Amino acid sequence: MRRVICFDDILLEPKYSELRSRVDIDLSNTLFADPLLNFSLPIISSPMDTVTEAEMTVAMHRSGGLGIIHRYNSIEAQVELVHDASMEGMCNVGAAIGVSGEYLDRAAALYDAGANLLCIDIAHGHHKMMHDALHNLREVFGDKVHLMAGNVATLEAFNDLADWGAHSVRVGVGGGSICSTRVQTGHGVPTLQSVIDCASSDRDVSLIADGGIKNPGDMVKALAAGADFVMCGSLLAGTDETPGKIVYFDGEKSKIYRGMASREAQTSWRNRIGSVEGVSTMVAMRGPVSDVLHELEWGLRSGLSYSGANNLFELRTRCNFLEQTHASQAESLPHALLKL
Ligand code: IMP
Repeated sequence: MRRVICFDDILLEPKYSELRSRVDIDLSNTLFADPLLNFSLPIISSPMDTVTEAEMTVAMHRSGGLGIIHRYNSIEAQVELVHDASMEGMCNVGAAIGVSGEYLDRAAALYDAGANLLCIDIAHGHHKMMHDALHNLREVFGDKVHLMAGNVATLEAFNDLADWGAHSVRVGVGGGSICSTRVQTGHGVPTLQSVIDCASSDRDVSLIADGGIKNPGDMVKALAAGADFVMCGSLLAGTDETPGKIVYFDGEKSKIYRGMASREAQTSWRNRIGSVEGVSTMVAMRGPVSDVLHELEWGLRSGLSYSGANNLFELRTRCNFLEQTHASQAESLPHALLKL
């Protein structure tokens, strides 16, 4: 049986550095080497109904990242969200679609409304229906839209999606903070392990690490392991730009953050419950997402500086992973407040 590792199992060894200022570090990256899809911050917000609609998309754009508008609504409602984001004069608008039913009509309507990136968003992306959807979308759009596809957990799946026509692939199955897939189904791979495996691919598609990224340190580890971008849900949840009503919970202003396969989300978007593979929770409000992204960005800058890396490429080539023991994991967390 194979041994697999997750974010908390490893650390990056600090490296000799000549960087004078963290401001000089270049965090930019490009999806599928397309100069029009260049982002100064390698962070993408998840296509979830408690994370990304028009406001988040615009805010992600202003901070240098990318937002993907979720698909858990009618075509008309999603088109309006894309339109609202186009109203802001954005050059890149991403929107999610599925692989069944009216997905081709939805894709066409989103494209007409201004979306130039379609995210084929299903839980188990290594699937015949993904193959057919990518084939059909390529036939309709050619190279006119960027096709992001996922999620997958293995190198074989990553290569298949690349060969089927994806320009970028979301990597990570079962690792999300609101995900119960591994409990419900017994399946999954730690996201970091999937990133390491998929990064060994010889296909020229971009790799997006998705699920379980809980702090900037995890982002640095994912990018060092070979991810081109990281996708985040919980790290951005509860910010002003997320959709949803503000309610008081435990005396604090809060919003819902929920998995799209949670009982609550399934009830609200299709009024039918299938396999429950997510949970719903309340998160305290955290202010504007630009403040949160600013903190994450400085965590990334600092992370690259510890590896002596000027940019993401240097991070990947210079990094050295170390496996931690349980005792080391405990020492890695702030522990001054623990009473032993
Ligand atoms: P987080 O950043 O750890 O909160 O994970 C967010 C990611 O979890 C999303 O980008 C999706 O890939 C995934 N996800 C969203 N909803 C569900 C769900 O209900 N079950 C399993 N995974 C989910």
